[in-house]
Amino acid sequence: MDKFFTQKTCDRCGGSLAGGRIMSILNTDCLCLECKEKEKEDPRYKEAAKAEIKQVRKGNYNYEGLLQEQKITDKLLEQIKDIRASGKYNMFDLPGIQREAFERDYFELVTFLEESKKDCLNFIFTGQR
Ligand SMILES: [Zn+2]
Repeated sequence: MDKFFTQKTCDRCGGSLAGGRIMSILNTDCLCLECKEKEKEDPRYKEAAKAEIKQVRKGNYNYEGLLQEQKITDKLLEQIKDIRASGKYNMFDLPGIQREAFERDYFELVTFLEESKKDCLNFIFTGQR
């Protein structure tokens, strides 16, 4: 947040912010106006806008965005899917998955499994992030 007003390039595309800057509604990225326009087409945009209004009404002006709320990020999801696609492990074999994650250098996933086995199980069982 502090660097929002001083940074020179867009967090999403790396382009110049000379034309203006605006905060992403999905997370705390600082965006150029072009990326902001693109973001409005994101299917999650409406949901995120609503979530933000709700937070502000509650008095939370530092809401970090919808994506920050998700415990399982898109990157983690990709890593879980990769391992699942390998078919080597039963998805309930968390130690096996963790070992595989380690071998593949999926360090986010290794850490995630370590810190939140319950969330992970919940995701595997219900598909809810
Ligand atoms: Zn951009």
